[in-house]
Amino acid sequence: SSSKSSQNVVVLGATGSIGCSTLDVIRASKGAFTPFALTAHGRLDDLLKAAIKYQPKYIVASDDAAAQAFDWSQLPPETTLLTGTAGLQEVAAHSEADIIVSAIVGRAGLEGTFAAIAAGKRVALANKETLVVAGHLATKLAQESGAEILPVDSEHSAIFQALMAGSETDVRKVILTASGGPFRKFTQQQLLKVTADEALDHPTWKMGPKITVDSATMMNKALELIEAKWLFNLKVDQIDVVVHPQSIIHSIVEFVDGSMVAQMSPPDMRMPIQLAMTYPERTECPARKLDLTTAFSLEFEPPDYERFPALKLGKEVAERGGTCGAVLNAANEVAVQQFLEGKIRFVDIYRVCRHLLDEHPFESNPELTRLLELDAWAREESIKWITCCLRQAKDQACSNT
Ligand code: NAD
Ligand code: MG
Repeated sequence: SSSKSSQNVVVLGATGSIGCSTLDVIRASKGAFTPFALTAHGRLDDLLKAAIKYQPKYIVASDDAAAQAFDWSQLPPETTLLTGTAGLQEVAAHSEADIIVSAIVGRAGLEGTFAAIAAGKRVALANKETLVVAGHLATKLAQESGAEILPVDSEHSAIFQALMAGSETDVRKVILTASGGPFRKFTQQQLLKVTADEALDHPTWKMGPKITVDSATMMNKALELIEAKWLFNLKVDQIDVVVHPQSIIHSIVEFVDGSMVAQMSPPDMRMPIQLAMTYPERTECPARKLDLTTAFSLEFEPPDYERFPALKLGKEVAERGGTCGAVLNAANEVAVQQFLEGKIRFVDIYRVCRHLLDEHPFESNPELTRLLELDAWAREESIKWITCCLRQAKDQACSNT
């Protein structure tokens, strides 16, 4: 709708890292974009502040109980408060909404994203978990509804941009770059002892806690491999991973003639977020710019699947498909949370995921309701396994020494 003067933007997860960068892009757009609805789960004082600053038509406090307990007396009169998952679905499918920025973290992003896809919206997708859990359903639904799913994830935005250099049938490979995270040079022995604080200290990106831990285990790259498969309709063996510690080349497409097209920019999410909103146009962007007059170098190295076994799960799950993505994602979400709470070790995150993938009742073509059932099952099962096996083993190991 380029004839319209301003596009209405819904930001699902407006108080998070991607959400705040999105509001930055909107603010810098000189009216090209209008904040139409903003949502948050916790930290409702941040949501209220954003409501006062941007005066959107709606805000959604997706945690019902927290919404009831909060004092909304300062809410601007022109802003309507909605609550719960129903509120997320309502704003994501609203007839006046043009662009839905899907920036809730984890499986919790599913309902809003699906509502936006079903309503045929432009979806600027940061919530990769939607494609990991239910990529076959989300992409099919988008085809039926005419929704556009545009990548926000920097690697996928890079691939999206590089693909414009050739035709789809001439793509040989897609190469996802990975920073390698804070433990890129750690030995197996060192990895046994790393703490949550160390995992949260990412060398190149500033992001929410869940994806920051995913970067440290390299599970993030596993999830991104699955995401790439669905976004660009690729075969799994067409997708490679290379470690590139500077996070300047965001990914690469190799064509059949051997030509590689890469996209570079500083690690700043405002660029891919904005492109997902303005595409097919490009406009001035508040993101940092690369300065090629200063000397710097770019390095590449192969990933180490022994120290970062989570990476292997990406190919396996992308190949098996079906229920695997939902189970991997749920197990990982639980394990990351347990690690952040100091209840399991860093290396146990992979073990929980491996165990759940091996134990789960595989199905090749599940419906959404089944996937959500399995998500709940995998969360319970992960906690059980952590409590009865992992922690017990840890305590025994401790009392033995
Ligand atoms: P974050 O933790 O900073 O923010 C999460 C947002 O989701 C917050 O607004 C929070 O209120 C909301 N939220 C949390 N739990 C919720 C729930 N149960 N129901 C509804 N809303 C809930 O996360 P982030 O780093 O901004 O990441 C958001 C998504 O974007 C993730 O899927 C992540 O993988 C993806 N992503 C992030 C980056 C980045 O640079 N941060 C880069 C690429 C992709
Ligand atoms: Mg990424």
